Amino acid sequence: MIHDDIQKVLVTEEEIEKRCVELAQQIEADYKKTGQTPIVVGLLKGSISFMAELIKRFESPIEIDFMKVSSYEGTESIGDIRIDLDMRISAKERPILLVEDIIDTGRTLVEVKKMLKNKGATDVKVVSLLDKPHERAIQADYVGFVVPNEFVVGYGLDYNQKYRNLPYVGVLKPEIYE
Ligand code: 5GP
Ligand code: MG
Repeated sequence: MIHDDIQKVLVTEEEIEKRCVELAQQIEADYKKTGQTPIVVGLLKGSISFMAELIKRFESPIEIDFMKVSSYEGTESIGDIRIDLDMRISAKERPILLVEDIIDTGRTLVEVKKMLKNKGATDVKVVSLLDKPHERAIQADYVGFVVPNEFVVGYGLDYNQKYRNLPYVGVLKPEIYE
């Protein structure tokens, strides 16, 4: 069982569910002030569990879409990203709420935000389930939980594509990396 590979649970399923209710209320109230409907855009694959839980708690109409991006590896050109899958809905003149699993350096988000602005999005906000506090150029507008600077898995987050289906966020036993 995948549960056997977990050393400790950092955020439980109950905590995530409760936080999603709070986040959705707060986000919805903020968009209500602007009178606009956001396109909620999940960054694949890590955001899927969080996005599914979060959108259930919105009571106003929303649209959803997805993007998949990857960073160019092995180069020093920080921030360069490749779009593996683009949105289907036009971002033009729309506010966008990006849904991310975790923010580490923030480079991915800086680039995706820039790209969406170039496509004519009027506003791009970010909600992230997890946040690893760092000195960095970008902060999420909404954060579920702050986690320590450890490699975490579960609730969408993987290690070598495994553990995304865990219903909580945790840390792997050291022997899994051996
Ligand atoms: P950054 O903010 O550095 O551009 O990258 C964030 C991305 O790196 C996240 O979307 C996630 O895919 C990956 N990442 C960062 N920290 C972790 C972690 O602790 N666990 C996992 N599974 N992925 C992480
Ligand atoms: Mg990611």
